Amino acid sequence: MKLEKGVKQDVELTADDLKSLAEQFKAEYKSKIGKDFPTDPKEQLIGAIEAVFRSWDNPRANVYRRDNDIPYSWGTAVNVQMMAFGNMGDTSGTGVAFTRNPATGDKELMGEFLLNAQGEDVVAGVRTPQPIKELADTMPEVYDQFIDICNKLENHYRDMQDMEFTIEDKKLYMLQTRNGKRTAKAALKIACDLVDEGMIDEQKAVSMIDPRNLDSLLHPQFDSYAINKAIPVAKGLAAAPGAACGKIVFTAEDAKARAAKGEKVVLVRLETSPEDIEGMKAAQGILTVRGGMTSHAAVVARGMGACCVSGCSAIEMDEAHKVFKIGVQEFHEGDVISFDGTTGNIYDRAIPTVDATIAGEFGRIMEWADKYRTLKVRTNADTPEDAAKARELGAEGIGLCRTEHMFFGGHRIDAFREMICSDTLEEREQALEKLLPLQQGDFEKLFEAMEGNPVTIRFLDPPLHEFVPSDEEDIRKLADAKGKTMEDIRKLIAQLHEMNPMMGHRGCRLTVTFPEIAVMQTKAVIRAAINVKKAHADWEVVPEIMIPLIGDDKELKFVKKTVVETADAEIKAAGSDLKYEVGTMIEIPRAALTADMIAKEAEFFCFGTNDLTQMTYGFSRDDAGKFLESYYKAKIFENDPFAKLDRDGVGKLMETAIKLGKSTRPEIHCGICGEHGGDPSSVEFCHNIGLDYVSCSPFRVPIARLAAAQAAISQAK
Ligand code: PEP
Ligand code: MG
Repeated sequence: MKLEKGVKQDVELTADDLKSLAEQFKAEYKSKIGKDFPTDPKEQLIGAIEAVFRSWDNPRANVYRRDNDIPYSWGTAVNVQMMAFGNMGDTSGTGVAFTRNPATGDKELMGEFLLNAQGEDVVAGVRTPQPIKELADTMPEVYDQFIDICNKLENHYRDMQDMEFTIEDKKLYMLQTRNGKRTAKAALKIACDLVDEGMIDEQKAVSMIDPRNLDSLLHPQFDSYAINKAIPVAKGLAAAPGAACGKIVFTAEDAKARAAKGEKVVLVRLETSPEDIEGMKAAQGILTVRGGMTSHAAVVARGMGACCVSGCSAIEMDEAHKVFKIGVQEFHEGDVISFDGTTGNIYDRAIPTVDATIAGEFGRIMEWADKYRTLKVRTNADTPEDAAKARELGAEGIGLCRTEHMFFGGHRIDAFREMICSDTLEEREQALEKLLPLQQGDFEKLFEAMEGNPVTIRFLDPPLHEFVPSDEEDIRKLADAKGKTMEDIRKLIAQLHEMNPMMGHRGCRLTVTFPEIAVMQTKAVIRAAINVKKAHADWEVVPEIMIPLIGDDKELKFVKKTVVETADAEIKAAGSDLKYEVGTMIEIPRAALTADMIAKEAEFFCFGTNDLTQMTYGFSRDDAGKFLESYYKAKIFENDPFAKLDRDGVGKLMETAIKLGKSTRPEIHCGICGEHGGDPSSVEFCHNIGLDYVSCSPFRVPIARLAAAQAAISQAK
């Protein structure tokens, strides 16, 4: 109608124009609904109310709730108010304002208004609103009254307010007020300012920050203007936060090679494996077609602080030809794409990024958080760099070092493959002999980085076939090194094939079959600890050796015997008084249910909730992403149980295990090192059930510290 009449604004239309528009809308209504638009005001009102209730269930609302951890069961409310008209001429108007700047947190009124308009006009952007301060010139009394109300509301709610108002013929109506949404930076500044202004105490300041927002302070982000304008071409799982923009590469080697030349690359793969680590490090971000929130790509990216989008099933991948398709659009090596690890969105072009900035208030809030929390926060780290980063971010130890991740750098993989592809014990021991000094060196660096804080080292866990070479060149190299034929090696590799490797020959089962692996790892841990203790007499170096995937106390007894005999012999030979602990992961339901028996052997428990969730639900942690979307739609699940701990099932097993464990070993210490250790809601649960620590990837350490403090504060209330 506006086009037709050659006008720009709604208010320029005449009464007749509006009448005609109303008729058009009514006709549209009838054609869609099949009956006349109701003329009974009560019926209209009920219809409007029902529409608001229905909005609780629209797809956007469902996604928003999932992202913000809001339960579906809450439902929404409808507030019916008398209408105030902002479009009754130039003594009327409408606007939106914040009591503080929601982008920076600065204490300044920020907002906009439009004269002779309704709220919709401000939101729709057809007219350019005026800054709120200009209301002081147009309607000074109304402005003064508005300022008074702003102060009153902020003083009452003790938080920054986001308000909507309408002026009807110089009379001010407040339509709504709520605590305003804000950037992470603003959230920290506002919380600190409110404490300094005497409005709130430290506990309240700690409680009012959403821990998940801290992510944006720790990782590069997309330029907000550019990202708002960009349209995603696909969406995957928001596996590790941050922003990635670069040229597509399909292999870890290409990532390394191009990055070495100074190019910014993103690694796109069906899925990643430990072999890809160096390429993942070299890339700006990792995008995978398969895999969920606890897939290799997701876990490793989070650890490195790299951005990752996983499980993007919209991608049709042809790795062999280095091309993939999203719909009809093809993407080749060297094409530039962007993706957002915080939303999972993927874009077919370059979007500029901005670096993370840590404001001064960040440290203050973290200091307060540390003051009030009782749960310790450790980190999952396998390299000295990750460990150092985690220390910087406040980690109080290592809760999980996945030793298998240490076998990939440089030439280690060669020795490791020699070990796997051995026919005899002697052959295997020879290969292990090569690995021993490398592992020992790595452990020394980890102990150094942790400066006397506890370090938990988990012995080899994944199925061995994950490490075998796949390309011809590597098979040849291995055959040469072992004096075997390529055919021999291929046969050995084929023997390692398993129908269901996640439930196959992995974890402690490897040690039951090949105790010599645990012997080597024990020697490496103990020798490293003795050396570091010698160099730093004031540090408490007490390595915690953790055996994975125990399901039966006799398994632990068997493996522990090897570990203890080896460790004690090492300590004796060195004339040292080193103390060490042997404990287990609880990641198999049977272990949780027999924890009283297991605790007779285990000096500590650490819940591996990635596997525990997998085995409790019977969902593959790598494939669940494929069907979870249907579960959300069917309202069976509201969240990914691999990201947010399932309190009713997995949680109950944890509670049971703690109770049983303490019944036979009251002093047992318990932690969690599954991905849930960095999820705020799961951290709260861990606090409530009395865990001693949570362990998470380095960049989630501040999130866990804050969430732990919030849990303690809310429990004390
Ligand atoms: C776990 O299962 O929760 C765990 C931490 O071990 P991983 O992820 O290495 O299997
Ligand atoms: Mg596990």
